[in-house]
Amino acid sequence: MPTATDDADADVIVVGAGLSGLVCATRLVAGGARVRVLEARVRTGGRLLGRLVGDGMFDLGGQWWTAGQPRLAALADELGIARVPQHRAGASVITLDPFVASDGLASATPRRRTLPGRIVDALVRGRRVAELSRLIERAGREAPLDWDRESLGAWLAREIPDATLRDHVAIHCEMTFAVEPHELSFLDYLAQLAAGGDPFDGTAGDEHRFVPGAFALPARLAAALGDRVSLATPVRAIDVGAGTVRTDSATLRASHVVLAVPPAAARAIAFTPPLPPAAAAALSASRAGPVVKVVATYARAFWRDAGRSGEAYLRPGVVRATADACTADGVPALAAFVVAAEAAAWTPAHTAHVLDDLRRLFGDAAARPTDLGFHAWGADPLAHGCVAGLPPGARSAGAAWRGPHARLHVAGTEAAHRWPGFMEGAIDAAERAAAEILAA
Ligand SMILES: Cc1cc2nc3c(=O)[nH]c(=O)nc-3n(C[C@H](O)[C@H](O)[C@H](O)COP(=O)(O)OP(=O)(O)OC[C@H]3O[C@@H](n4cnc5c(N)ncnc54)[C@H](O)[C@@H]3O)c2cc1C
Repeated sequence: MPTATDDADADVIVVGAGLSGLVCATRLVAGGARVRVLEARVRTGGRLLGRLVGDGMFDLGGQWWTAGQPRLAALADELGIARVPQHRAGASVITLDPFVASDGLASATPRRRTLPGRIVDALVRGRRVAELSRLIERAGREAPLDWDRESLGAWLAREIPDATLRDHVAIHCEMTFAVEPHELSFLDYLAQLAAGGDPFDGTAGDEHRFVPGAFALPARLAAALGDRVSLATPVRAIDVGAGTVRTDSATLRASHVVLAVPPAAARAIAFTPPLPPAAAAALSASRAGPVVKVVATYARAFWRDAGRSGEAYLRPGVVRATADACTADGVPALAAFVVAAEAAAWTPAHTAHVLDDLRRLFGDAAARPTDLGFHAWGADPLAHGCVAGLPPGARSAGAAWRGPHARLHVAGTEAAHRWPGFMEGAIDAAERAAAEILAA
């Protein structure tokens, strides 16, 4: 690895102290590099956020590990962070009131179904899923650009006459990307699934949570990096040719720069020279789905007493999905997810609607939490949402996020080859960016 000149501040400057930036910095330090990490927030972790609600610490950002994500499992082991299976015992519920779907097709009757197990298993049992699996596999192999011209919603409306199956795919889209099917390119949907796990092939494993939470991953990485990490230091400009990074108070020099921020947040950084056209197009087209994650704590896990798993899906409603969130040390809690248009319109006053929906799903006790905490990710100017996707037309117009661009290396989950959008992708991209630099 080329080392920086004596007057440089570091060999490598990493922009962003989310999981990806911190893993990248850790690998670079292990490879002998002098590293500085610059983070805009007053905390590390980015989209991994731990917060005290009631008597428990909860993840208000990313949370679950699933089988097939080896890097995340290895990192948790490396940091001594345990995984426990997500509570699934009991019935889950899908409530689809009479509604007009985003594709304009009306459902005739109210539908409320109690399922014996996980909602994802019901998705897999749906008819025509084999067809979707075939398309996901093809999208991963050759990315047919003509599939990029329409949205997932338009494809569902045209190809899937069965309303239940259409709903199931829409549920999956909303739960994964926090956007409505008509907002996402059909090709981008398929290609992102191809880069992770196919949810429709029947092999999806059970999710696990971390103890005390996923927020412990970046916290432990940052603690080991110590004063290499600077908080409250937003990067305003990167000059790749000069090897400089400008913050509000200084211009720092390094041989390499790693960009470990979401594309939507990178729009606020001035690049010299400008990013190549493909990366610039991805940067401007990228849309992270807005999501509000709410955690409500209770005196008792009354849903478990009633034989319910805590997993539910509701449409229409402010809350779109819920899951059991009881902590490993026994604080009873439900997590509720508000997505897409409802999340974009979110104000703190909407917590009253969240409690109404929880009452609809779980009864009166659900409207009487001991405490409530939430984070609105769509309104967070350093995240802009949760999982990024591209609207129809962006991929076929050449949009592609990833590097390197000379000495600018692109980490962050959106730059991953495997599991983009997930913690696994954040590590995948981080380790690739670190390897690029160490091999240079
Ligand atoms: C509600 C929610 C639920 C999720 N659930 C899951 C899940 O169950 N499983 C899963 O695997 N993933 C989940 N995810 C996704 C997961 O959290 C992310 O994939 C992962 O945390 C991304 O890490 P990152 O380092 O790539 O980006 P980030 O965490 O976004 O880190 C980027 C960092 O860059 C900083 N930054 C931005 N701009 C600048 C700048 N100009 N200068 C300096 N710093 C800057 C930001 O403040 C941030 O700290 C979820 C996300 C959300 C929001």
